[in-house]
Amino acid sequence: YLGKDSAVDVAPSNSEESLSPGSASDDSKKIRIGFSMDTLEEERWLKDRDLFKKAVEQLGAEVEILAANGDEALQVVQAETLINRGVDVLVIVPYNAESAATIVTKAQLAGIKVISYDRLIKNADIDLYVSFDNERVGELQAEAMIRLVPEGKYVYIGGAETDYNAHLLKKGVFNVLQPLIDQGDIHIVYDQWTTNWLPSNAFLNMQEALKANNNQIDAVIAANDATAGMALKALEEAGLAGQIPVAGQDAELAAVQRIVQGIQTMTVYKPIGSLAEEVASLSVSLAKGEVLDIERKLNNGKVMVPSVLLSPVSVNRSNLDETILADGFHSEEDIYSGG
Ligand code: BGC
Repeated sequence: YLGKDSAVDVAPSNSEESLSPGSASDDSKKIRIGFSMDTLEEERWLKDRDLFKKAVEQLGAEVEILAANGDEALQVVQAETLINRGVDVLVIVPYNAESAATIVTKAQLAGIKVISYDRLIKNADIDLYVSFDNERVGELQAEAMIRLVPEGKYVYIGGAETDYNAHLLKKGVFNVLQPLIDQGDIHIVYDQWTTNWLPSNAFLNMQEALKANNNQIDAVIAANDATAGMALKALEEAGLAGQIPVAGQDAELAAVQRIVQGIQTMTVYKPIGSLAEEVASLSVSLAKGEVLDIERKLNNGKVMVPSVLLSPVSVNRSNLDETILADGFHSEEDIYSGG
């Protein structure tokens, strides 16, 4: 009996052993993450792409990245491609906050978890949202501007209406401005979205704002640095560049150089590496089926989405070195000898 028992014991342990090389290779079967990006148009998205890839690979997983050049239909097709290739988790920067919900439904049917990256997907059952506090970004812009221009005519060059961030940014700006508007100190003389976030549209909007006000404006808040850049071009054509405070966000190199030159007043710096690392690590956790312990929940119109919101930083000439430069977001050479 003993012999038999041990023989019986040996059999399973043998078969376990013969399984273990297999299960070891199962363990080493890499987690695959799909990253569906709206665009690589702004400089920041190139950083997002590269830093996210790096962060995912550092965790021993791999990532497939597709970017849609600002084409809504193409993004859906690309996301389907990633779903069909069987990624474990789908990370999406949606072009359109609402229509991206169809992608989420498809991913769910395939049993794939979805993370909203930087931009919230509305009215969809997403698993997680990681971004910067976009409302705070708007507040930081307006706070910087009212210090310089406590009274006067303000122009607001918004983001793309299809991007929920653009709404949050605007909400933040008006959180700060509204009391001063109510007091009669600040007047909003122009307020428009920038279709598709296209800087060329921001240029046209700024021209329109100048024309409508006979160039009598005192401050410009632009939803990002790319739109600020083209608003500044319109101001330059009117001989006003450097005369009027202009705010942006993203800490794009060109904007940082403009801040050094005194043409742009401030930007909002969002350390992209932290976002990329946070999403990479949470993606891997989700892929492993781990339950995430995230207290903050935001309503996206359909579900309460576990949300991680990182802090943006207000940057002007005076704290540029201790923030953007110290972090290595841009090099000293690029900042001070470029442009
Ligand atoms: C992002 C900004 C970016 C803009 C245009 C927003 O959703 O938060 O950083 O500049 O999209 O791509």
